Amino acid sequence: MNSQVHHSGKIVTRFAPSPTGFLHIGGARTALFNALFAKRFGGEFKLRIEDTDRARYSEEAVSAILDGLSWLGLSWDGEPVSQHARAERHVEAVDALVAMGAAFRCYCTAEELETLREQAFKEGRAFRSPWRDGGDAPDLPYTIRFRAPESDVVVNDAVQGEVRWTAKEFDDLVLLRNDGSPTYNLAVVVDDHDMGVTHVIRGDDHLVNAGRQTQIYQALGWDAPQFAHIPLIHGPDGKKLSKRHGALGVEAYRDLGYLPEGLRNYLLRLGWAHGDKELFTDAEMAELFDLDGLGKAPARLDLDKMAHINAFHMKRADDERLCALLWDRIGAREDLRTDDTAKVWVFRAMPVLKDRASTLAELEDQVYFLVRPRPFELSGKAGKALKGDALDRLSRLRVVLSETEDWSEDALGETLQRFAEREEVGFGKVGQPLRAALTGGAPAPDMSFVLAVLGRDEVLARLDDVI
Ligand code: GLU
Repeated sequence: MNSQVHHSGKIVTRFAPSPTGFLHIGGARTALFNALFAKRFGGEFKLRIEDTDRARYSEEAVSAILDGLSWLGLSWDGEPVSQHARAERHVEAVDALVAMGAAFRCYCTAEELETLREQAFKEGRAFRSPWRDGGDAPDLPYTIRFRAPESDVVVNDAVQGEVRWTAKEFDDLVLLRNDGSPTYNLAVVVDDHDMGVTHVIRGDDHLVNAGRQTQIYQALGWDAPQFAHIPLIHGPDGKKLSKRHGALGVEAYRDLGYLPEGLRNYLLRLGWAHGDKELFTDAEMAELFDLDGLGKAPARLDLDKMAHINAFHMKRADDERLCALLWDRIGAREDLRTDDTAKVWVFRAMPVLKDRASTLAELEDQVYFLVRPRPFELSGKAGKALKGDALDRLSRLRVVLSETEDWSEDALGETLQRFAEREEVGFGKVGQPLRAALTGGAPAPDMSFVLAVLGRDEVLARLDDVI
C-alpha cells in the first residue's frame, strides 16, 4: 500500500483518547504506532483529549493518560488539544453543513424515532429522518442530523484494504445533540482536519466510524486522512481484552516490573511485524516502523513473550538506572536493608543480576540475598546444607577467608577450589554450605561473585551467624 511513502507534505498523526482514568494497554499501543509513524517520516505526533463527555470528565482522569504516556516514554508535539474547548468550531462546521444542505434540523421525538427506526429495520434500510428535506417546527427541540448520501462509501484502509458500505448502512446521523453538543463522529472529523492529521491509526472498533467520517469529510469538501485500523488486543484466552484479564492499564505493567522500553517493544510486536524480528531497540523501532507491517489478525496478550522481550531490555539497561528503579520499589520496605552499604552491594552486583531477571519484580528476588537482614531465617534446603560436618568445614573455610588478601572474584574462585582440594571433597561440599550461610537459601549467582560483592567483613559476619 505504501501510502506513507507517497504522501506528499508533512505526516501528522494523533492519539485521541477519551479520559477514562487510565491509559489502556490498547490505547498505549495505538499511541506508540502513531508516534513511531510520525517519527519515522519526520512528522508530528499530536495528542487530543476527547473530553466532551462532561459528566465523566475529571482532571485526574486526563492526568492519568498523560502520566501513562510519559511513563511509556511517548512525547507528543505541542500542547494537548481539548476537544471540549473546540465546541464552537464544531458548531461552525455543522452550520456550514446545514447551509449547504448536507445537514438539517430534525424535530423527531424519541417515540417517533423508535417507530421510524423499527420501520427502517423491517425494510432493511438505514433510518432516514422525515425532516431531511427541510421544514421547520419552531419552539420544538431539535437535533442536527447529517443527510446521509445515497451513494456507497469506500475507505481504502492501510490494514483492512478496501472497505465498502452501501447507503443502506448509514443512518441520518446526529451531528449536534439537542443541547447543542457535538457528537463523536462530527467532532473527530473537524478536529482531525483542523489539526492537519494525515494518518489515523486506531483500533478496528472504529472501522465503521471511518465510513461515517468519510461521508462527513466529503460533504465538507475536505480530504479524509489515510486510515489504518488495527485489530484489537485480545487476552491470553483469545477473548477480547476485558477487566476479567486484569492488567488493563499501563501502570499495571509498570507495577509488575516491566521497563517502559520493554513494554514499547512488546506493544510494537503486538500487531506489527518486521520479518520475524522480535527484539527492537528504540532506534530500530523508529527506523523500521511502517504501515505495511501492521497485521490483520487479532493480537493476543502473551505474558511469557512480554517477559522475554523485557529481559532483553533489562540486560541493556544502565546499571545506575536499574538501581534507582529498584530502590523506588523497595526503598521504603522495613524488612530489608536499604542503607548505603546495601546500596553499594546492589550496584556492584547489578551487571550480573540484571541478566538473571526479566522484570524489576524478578530483580527484587535476585537482590534479596544482598538486602535481607541478618541473621537469616534459613530455607529448608539451606538448613540441611548446614548439617553434619558442613559446619566444621565452614569454620575451617572461615579461617582461610579471613587470611585471604586478594579479594577479587577470580582469586576467590581459586581459593575456594584449593580449599575443596585440601579438604579432599568435591566443590559442592564447600559451595552448598557456603551458599546456605551467605544467602540463607535465597537465589544468588556464583559463590566467588557473592564473596567479592559482599566483601570480607560481611562474609565473615554471615559465616559467624551459622558456625
Ligand atoms: N476517543 C476515541 C477512543 O478513545 C478515539 C477516536 C479516534 O481515534 O478517532 O476510542
